[in-house]
Amino acid sequence: MRIGAEESVLPGPGHPGSATRLVPMKVLLLGGTAEARSLADTLWVEQVRFVSSLAGRVSQPRLPVGQVRTGGFGGVAGLVRHLREESITHVVDATHPFATTMTQHAAQAGRLAGVPVLRLSRPGWGSHPLASTWTWVDDYEQARSAADDLGRRPFLTTGRQTLTHFREWIGRDVVVRVVEPLEDEPPARWRVLHDRGPFDVGAELALMRRHGVNVLLTKDSGGTFTQAKLSAAHCLGVPTVVVRRPQLPPATTEVSDVASVRAWLRAG
Ligand code: NAP
Repeated sequence: MRIGAEESVLPGPGHPGSATRLVPMKVLLLGGTAEARSLADTLWVEQVRFVSSLAGRVSQPRLPVGQVRTGGFGGVAGLVRHLREESITHVVDATHPFATTMTQHAAQAGRLAGVPVLRLSRPGWGSHPLASTWTWVDDYEQARSAADDLGRRPFLTTGRQTLTHFREWIGRDVVVRVVEPLEDEPPARWRVLHDRGPFDVGAELALMRRHGVNVLLTKDSGGTFTQAKLSAAHCLGVPTVVVRRPQLPPATTEVSDVASVRAWLRAG
């Protein structure tokens, strides 16, 4: 299938389909996730005009194929301006399920600019076979409090930007895993590991044993890259606390796979 193929022109320099056919469709793909890169692959192959957008938080990001812009838009007003100036016809918000601000901004800006927005999000871990064994909570404060009741040596994998909620654990032995270095010096007894996966169960078992962790904290990121820790924790009898996904903006249309995005774009 080729979306908008008849009216289409396009490919930029170096595109496999190059010679040139113009399309009115132009997709802004809000990314920073494996799903966004996978969608970029599909749009590229199908010669749909698109630009991927990254926040610019990661020093060595995995880049999608095709054109990429980096950095914030400057809030809702900045994004509305961008949509108009760049003649964007569709927005696909494929940011991480916990990138709540960007998702809110995309929904509002799309409404203001009259540009349709689709949310692409990987399925969460709610249907994971172990899900009923976990303690589910609504936010990081609740996660800390639940973990306090479950173990004294936490393995904290909720992300760099959430660590401020766990500062009460300043005097505890905490193992923290993050992708990027922390901006502030961590408490002396915290052990900070830098890695971004994908992880496998064997390595996760070894890590949890080595550090003697006895409670795992995570958020419902979903996907396969980071789910090995869930099985490893179960094997070791380590209880798991999971932060639920934030609510989506009202009237958001959400899909969980690339095929559904294609269908949405094809429909108009
Ligand atoms: P956030 O809190 O929702 O967004 C904060 C601000 O960062 C936004 O208001 C926007 O700035 C800018 N921004 C976010 N995503 C952007 C994008 N794709 N393109 C351009 N600007 C973007 O986001 P976050 O949780 O910090 O996540 C930042 C990025 O990392 C996202 O793209 C997300 O997909 C990726 N990521 C996040 C997580 C996570 O756990 N949160 C995990 C893996 C990957 P302006 O208001 O100036 O436009």
